[in-house]
Amino acid sequence: MKLRTILYGYTFQNAGYIPDPSESNVVQSIYSEYIGGTTIAEIVKWLNTTGIPYSSDKKTWNKNMVYRILTDTRYIGGGIYPQIISKELFERANKKENIAKQEPLTDELRWLKQKAFCHACGKQLYRRRMKDGSYRWICLNKCIKSKPIRDLDLQNMILEKLSLLKDHPESIADDFTVEDFSLSPEARKYENEIERLISEPNPSYQLLKSVVLDCVSKRYDCCVNSGTYEISKELTAALSKEPPGFDLMKKICEKIAVDENGEVHLTLKNGKDCI
Ligand SMILES: [Zn+2]
Repeated sequence: MKLRTILYGYTFQNAGYIPDPSESNVVQSIYSEYIGGTTIAEIVKWLNTTGIPYSSDKKTWNKNMVYRILTDTRYIGGGIYPQIISKELFERANKKENIAKQEPLTDELRWLKQKAFCHACGKQLYRRRMKDGSYRWICLNKCIKSKPIRDLDLQNMILEKLSLLKDHPESIADDFTVEDFSLSPEARKYENEIERLISEPNPSYQLLKSVVLDCVSKRYDCCVNSGTYEISKELTAALSKEPPGFDLMKKICEKIAVDENGEVHLTLKNGKDCI
């Protein structure tokens, strides 16, 4: 097991420290992201999203780990560790102005950062600052093949979906209500099978257990969650009252997913996917 007593970015070989190929890459990425304007918190999130472990016993990263990497002079060489960060890069990262130059997030963006996901891999989208100073939404697994999406474009695409929904409020309502509950023929079949197994002189516990579990899942399939039904009614009501905007978005959307073509899909609070 590799202990984290060795500075991150290095490995021990033939009685000396050498750069670890993948870890030193991570160190360099941390520096360039930070200089590009990405916050330490966002870097932590990025590292944890991509699943890069800090060490074999500490899988996840925290702000302190990233902060230490950004301020550790050993990365510029001169000691027992060979240089992997240029002096110039190190100085730029450690300039105070750099730390202060963080654009405040609007409520909309803060909300979107929680709710925007990649449709293909399911990971949270990452809002990256580009060289031109703009921010773009990307999947760190590179699932999205279209051009990285700008803040405004993402928000407009969602609003457009909400306008479409407004013209078709029936699409967010559930199709049937609690009163419609009835046992499906399949669930009934499992119930009969349970009856039969129980009446046997020596029923197999394992078999019985599996039939019971199957039966439960079949029974669930034909149930309608009344909670969902209530939420659907609320969503329909909100839609008829409010113009499509951020408040409505927050009220009715549970999740925003961007597919590989850059198309937006909304999942509503009642669990319904709306195209
Ligand atoms: Zn993805």
